[in-house]
Amino acid sequence: MFKSSKSIIKITMLGLIINLSLSVLKMLGGHVGYSQAVFADGIHSLSDTVTDIVILIGVKFWSKPPDFCHLYGHKRIETFITAFIGFILGLVSLRLIYMLLCLFFKLILLILSPFMLL
Ligand SMILES: [Zn+2]
Repeated sequence: MFKSSKSIIKITMLGLIINLSLSVLKMLGGHVGYSQAVFADGIHSLSDTVTDIVILIGVKFWSKPPDFCHLYGHKRIETFITAFIGFILGLVSLRLIYMLLCLFFKLILLILSPFMLL
């Protein structure tokens, strides 16, 4: 394993611990304080934790030296991992948009409900 890979693992482990702590604190704070925005930010931090885990798994593969089957090394796996992380972040953003729309329509119904009784 290259020296740069060890640095990636060290930094990603630190990020993972920080992101996991932040996600727990934000989701708890958002739940206790009835703040959808803080809770959603906690979910975003949780997705960052998942991407940190994906990076930790991926670095093991893309840092391998060239071998008989892969004469130019395994660095292309890094591109695949990056695309996968983008996919995960896209899914999280869709989920947050869905939560926002549900809340929006609940508020609309709450505002319009007195008029519906007429
Ligand atoms: Zn190989």
